[in-house]
Amino acid sequence: MIIQLQTNVSSTEKGVIVDKIKSIGYKTNEVVTQHGAYLVGIGKKEFDIRELGQLKGIADIHRVSDDYKLVSRKWKVGRTAIDLGDGVVIGDGNVSIMAGPCSIENEKQVELTIDHLVKNGVRIMRGGVFKPRSSPYAFRGLGIDGLKMWYAQAKAAGIKIITEVMQVSQIAEMHDYVDVFQVGARNTQNFNLLDELGKVDKAVMIKRGISGTIEELLYSAEYVFAAGNEKLILCERGIRTYEKASRNTLDINAIPILKEKTHLPVVADPSHGIGIRDFVEPVALAAVMAGADGIIYETHQKPEEAASDGQQTLDFLESKALIEKMNKTSQLLKTF
Ligand code: PEP
Ligand code: MN
Repeated sequence: MIIQLQTNVSSTEKGVIVDKIKSIGYKTNEVVTQHGAYLVGIGKKEFDIRELGQLKGIADIHRVSDDYKLVSRKWKVGRTAIDLGDGVVIGDGNVSIMAGPCSIENEKQVELTIDHLVKNGVRIMRGGVFKPRSSPYAFRGLGIDGLKMWYAQAKAAGIKIITEVMQVSQIAEMHDYVDVFQVGARNTQNFNLLDELGKVDKAVMIKRGISGTIEELLYSAEYVFAAGNEKLILCERGIRTYEKASRNTLDINAIPILKEKTHLPVVADPSHGIGIRDFVEPVALAAVMAGADGIIYETHQKPEEAASDGQQTLDFLESKALIEKMNKTSQLLKTF
């Protein structure tokens, strides 16, 4: 059960509500976010909702049978849109495009990428400064100095930044230079990281774990919401299957399933999802058709020279073509 509290609820009123919930055999968790205050009741017993409905301080009560509650669509049927400011919104019914290199490499690369994005109407740039790499000898990113350099250029151009945070200690130093914290596939179930991201007032995009189920992704989002941050986005980035012909298997199914289960925006990452440059475009377009609220993909001025993931990275011509096709596909979808 989710109880939405009135904004002006007093602590005495809240105490009465909590006692009532306990008396019907439910445990309560109080959640306060940027947008509201909630009491999440955990329990299975049947009860008469009118017993609670009469109490002062309650704005609304919802029964939520799912085990994840706050991210469930069972209580919030309308879709959540994440406003990044300056007219950049994810989940408003348009397809949000987030593009950029796998890794931030140097000032020139950032300049060229921003120029490409601005020319093509893209408002969100992706890039890693803390890189999770399978090999410890691979390029692991420019770190916080790289982020600051990137931020200075992005801010001047009106571009928002999405970048991966790998550990709790990085949150504070990154905070002022980030618009969306990305939780990578290797960290989807790093519950300490999720808890801490629940304390910041910045959007968080959680990628599906490498072998993670849809339900596990929803639970990860529930962690962040329950810790106080409801600016959440989910990302299908491909899962590991027995298939070896592609890097991962982008689970198109997950897009409509997630959109049915949660009110949060759902983004797809075709670059990591298939891992093959020539096939990023068809997979991206399929994800748009499947209802994705956004597409995040890798692009670089010279993919063959990229510090990481060049094999799945589009050059700017390919990226331009993809942007045009995604915009057209999204318009077409609206006519159905
Ligand atoms: C990335 O987006 O650069 C990345 C490392 O993605 P993932 O966590 O999905 O592997
Ligand atoms: Mn990458």
